[in-house]
Formats: sequence, structure tokens, C-alpha cells
Amino acid sequence: MKYYSTNHKAAPATLEEAVKKGLAPDKGLYMPERINRLPEGFIDNIGDMDFHTIATAVATSFFGEDIPAGDIGKIVRDTLCFDTPAVHIHDNIWSLELFHGPTLAFKDVGGRFMARMLSYFIAREDSRRKVTVIVATSGDTGSAVANGFLGVDGIDVIVLYPEGKVSEIQEKQFTTLGQNITALEVAGNFDDCQRLVKSAFMDPDLNRILTLTSANSINVARFLPQAFYYFNAYAQLKREGKAENVVFCVPSGNFGNITAGLMAWKMGLPVKRFIAANNRNDVFLEYLQTGIYRPRASVQTIANAMDVGDPSNFARVMDLYGNSVEAVRKDISGCRYTDDEIRETIAGVQGKYGYLLDPHGACGYQGLKDNLHPDETGIFLETAHPAKFKDTVESILGKEIGIPAKLQEFMKGEKKSIKMSADFGDFKNYLKTRV
Ligand SMILES: *Cc1c(COP(=O)(O)O)cnc(C)c1O
Repeated sequence: MKYYSTNHKAAPATLEEAVKKGLAPDKGLYMPERINRLPEGFIDNIGDMDFHTIATAVATSFFGEDIPAGDIGKIVRDTLCFDTPAVHIHDNIWSLELFHGPTLAFKDVGGRFMARMLSYFIAREDSRRKVTVIVATSGDTGSAVANGFLGVDGIDVIVLYPEGKVSEIQEKQFTTLGQNITALEVAGNFDDCQRLVKSAFMDPDLNRILTLTSANSINVARFLPQAFYYFNAYAQLKREGKAENVVFCVPSGNFGNITAGLMAWKMGLPVKRFIAANNRNDVFLEYLQTGIYRPRASVQTIANAMDVGDPSNFARVMDLYGNSVEAVRKDISGCRYTDDEIRETIAGVQGKYGYLLDPHGACGYQGLKDNLHPDETGIFLETAHPAKFKDTVESILGKEIGIPAKLQEFMKGEKKSIKMSADFGDFKNYLKTRV
């Protein structure tokens, strides 16, 4: 299957090219030229299928022309070493827990899948030229990508993060790994990290000597696999007899996660509608209200993985809906929550139902609470484990929360990072030493 750029200037790419490049040369995002509908019988029988079977069928629908069935099956099995349970909270509200992976955030699915697909393509090459993945992170992306690529043959990962601006738990998840993972601690903020990464992609010297790629959700191999768990959520609701009028509420930052849900819908997943939950970074809600998209600098909130002022996957949403705000409004509504509202939700749901939300999932829960109709079943994506935001959550509840063993393991490791200035010349010199 070919992948076109949302800017329509670059030539269509093969899957392999789209995965290796990340962003199209015209700075657009790659989209599959077709979204195949799954056979009717698939949805009828989905309640009898396990996660691997469902995910393999979805992956085959996207990648089956380009990767042999056996290899797709293996990539899916290796990726999904954990489940995504749908947990009933109260009444018609459910939580889709996406935090049971190695770094306890939903990005594990896309990160692990992309690592394995890239490694599949590299292994087929004669030259076997090493690929260098560079990724800027404000916290969660770095850990999911680094852990997803850990020990994967032929790939080097360089994580850039702003010195002193990520939590200790987050930092430990990508600075203690060693092997093919290097962490660069940049004397600057997240925007500086992102600027360094973008400059490297555009630098002709570096691109001559290195094969550089991005592992952000612009990459099709990271974003499309996120459709898997929407189907798996539906299968679980179906087994519970709750699969009528399903509404997904997605805590959104760069809008990769919700766009994968829209793809699942176009593949035939029976969904009634979507809600995009925002924190104070509410450009999307404003777009729904005014019809005008006005990107702006992000503001800092306690749901920091959603602190995005110009969501990169907005281009994909526009592409899916032919740039029509009326069409978008029919399928997706929006909501936004302040830090105080997020705090209230976390405390309230813990007190009333004994369920602990993280600050991102709290936006998802509240989006359903405020908008769900009585005849609908609402399911929000619980995108990270609350313990990843230990200090915030503990200050809200006024008591300590347990830390899962997986996170405690990371805390034991010894931090190793390379200090780097925010100057591109320094970063470029460093990359030259990595050939
Ligand atoms: C990345 C992230 C989000 C936002 O997901 P997008 O795909 O960027 O919209 C939400 N919650 C958590 C915990 C995240 O790490």
C-alpha cells in the first residue's frame, strides 16, 4: 500500500519509506491511501477473539500487502506482551486501562510496534545500515520509545530531554537502560530539544552519513497500531453486553491516539461518537467552537503529556474530514479541564468509587461524566498509570500511593546521561561521532 502526504506535494511513499522517514519531505504526515473495512463477520465474532487475534487482523488490514502474514503475527505478539483491560467504574462509564505495558503508558503499544517493524525492514536490507532514532521528550514519549527499542538490532536511539524538567521516575525510565539507548540532557526546555531534532532531520551533512528517523506519533508505525486497543475495548464491552452506542473519550495532546480511533471507526468498528478531552491547552475545542484553528504556545498543566499547543496529528484529522469543521463536529465533540477541575475529579472518583485516575485519564473520565447520554456506554482511555505522576496524585489525595514493581525496578537503576548545550552545532558534532 502507498502512503500519501497530507500536504500532497511529496511523492507517495512505500510503507518502508514512510516508516524510515517519519515525516514526508513536504513536512506533511503520511496517511495510508486506503482504509480497508474489516469483513462483516469480524465484528460479529469479535467477542470471541483474544487481543492478539484482533490486533493481527487490524495490522494485516493496514500492512498485509507489504509484510508477510507470519512476520506481522510475530511483530504483534512481541509488541503486545500485556493486556488492555476495560474496567467498569460506575453506571455506564468504563476505563480502558492502557498502562499495563513496560513503561506504564499507552505509548508502549506504538513504541514497541514501531521498533519491531523498523527492525524487520532493516534486517531485509543488504547494507544493513544502522538506523538512528532521535526523539525529543517531555517525559513519557522518551521512556516508551527507549524501552520499545531496547536491544533491537540495527537501531540506535538518542533521547533528548530538558535538564531538570522531567520527573525523576520518567528520567530513570530512559537514562538507566544502556545498550543501544543514549540519553542527552539538554541545557534548555522541551522546545529546544524539539528544535535540535528537527534541525538534525533537515541537515544535509548528517543525512549523508546517518539514517535518521523520528519516533514521534507522526510516524505511521507508531500511530496506526493504536487502533488495536479500540477494537479490543469493543470486544470486551460486547462480552459484557454493553456494546450499543459506544462513545470513546480520549485525553488528547498531539491527537495521535484519537486519530487511531477514527481510523478504527473507518475500518468498521461500531462507535457512536468520540470526545476529545483537553486540559487548558484547548486549541481543538476552540476549533470546534469557532471553526478556526489557532495554534499557540502550550501552557504547563498537571496533565503534562497533553500540553501541546499545535497538535501534529491535527493535519490527519483535517485530511480524514476534508477540512470541514461541520463534518468533524458530527463525529467529535470536545471539552477542557483546568488543573483544579482535574484535581477535583481525581479526589472525587477515588472517594466515591475507589478508582484512582491519573491526571490525563481524569480529563477522559470527566469528559464522559459531563457529556454522556443515558443510552450510551462511555469508555475513556486511561493513558498512564497514576504512579507515574506520584507527587501530583499524592498531593491531591493527601496520602501516599503504591508504586508498581515495574516502576520500582527503574528507580533502582543508575542514571547515565550526556550533558549537551542547546546549540545545534554541538548536537551535530555529537551525532557525527555516532556513525
Ligand atoms: C502522550 C500522552 C497523551 C496524549 O496522547 P496524544 O496521542 O498525543 O493525543 C495523553 N496521556 C498520556 C499519559 C500521554 O503520555
